[in-house]
Amino acid sequence: MIGRRESVGGAHFAFTDRWGGVSAAPYAELNLGGGGTPARAESRAGEAGDDPGAVRANRELAAKSLGVDPARVVWMNQVHRADALVVDEPWGERPVPEVDAIVTARRGLPLAVLTADCVPVLLADPVAGVVAAAHAGRPGMLAGVVPAAVRAMTGLGADPARIVARTGPAVCGRCYEVPDAMRDEVAAAEPAARATTSWGTPAVDVAAGVRTQLERLGVRDLEQSAVCTRESADHFSYRRDRTTGRLAGYVWLD
Ligand SMILES: [Zn+2]
Repeated sequence: MIGRRESVGGAHFAFTDRWGGVSAAPYAELNLGGGGTPARAESRAGEAGDDPGAVRANRELAAKSLGVDPARVVWMNQVHRADALVVDEPWGERPVPEVDAIVTARRGLPLAVLTADCVPVLLADPVAGVVAAAHAGRPGMLAGVVPAAVRAMTGLGADPARIVARTGPAVCGRCYEVPDAMRDEVAAAEPAARATTSWGTPAVDVAAGVRTQLERLGVRDLEQSAVCTRESADHFSYRRDRTTGRLAGYVWLD
């Protein structure tokens, strides 16, 4: 259910694994994505095929396990862009907007990011009381979604030197194979993301790119998940399974 959880000065970080939910294969078990909020990116990834009722039940189970109100969790309709949005309340009955980073200074408002190989990025400045969740795939990392999230946080009083950054399970640089030209394009923009697969072909390390971007902005407290989704049977992986569920990362303030 909750694969990893940490609290720092009243800010809480949590990442799910794939177990403990009610979805059937290929979304088994704790698929937290889709469920009536189909996005172009989600549809492409196949997650919209799960039963919306199962996703709703899974979101309730995960929230209960975290001790948060499922109705207050703020989700995103993720589209691999670099926009960051400040939020003050749950979407309620409104459509979930197309955005890849959300930021809040509101206490008790959990922000959630969905992934299955992309890098889920959770940020918190516990002193300022500002948190952010961002979805960084290869396009989003290159477009600067993480710097956009940090900028939106500083706009609310956060200081990068105080920001606690945690990234969750994601496909690693030894597994994320790409065409040679794509690796060149990524490396030209963010050299740290240049990688090689364990079988010797061109690859991209999105998490390394995210790490470098955060360090460049002055973020010092940064921990990266050691879990590779493609290699871990306990996590959803789009590159391994194509039609699969979504993991979630949650961040919130007391
Ligand atoms: Zn890997």
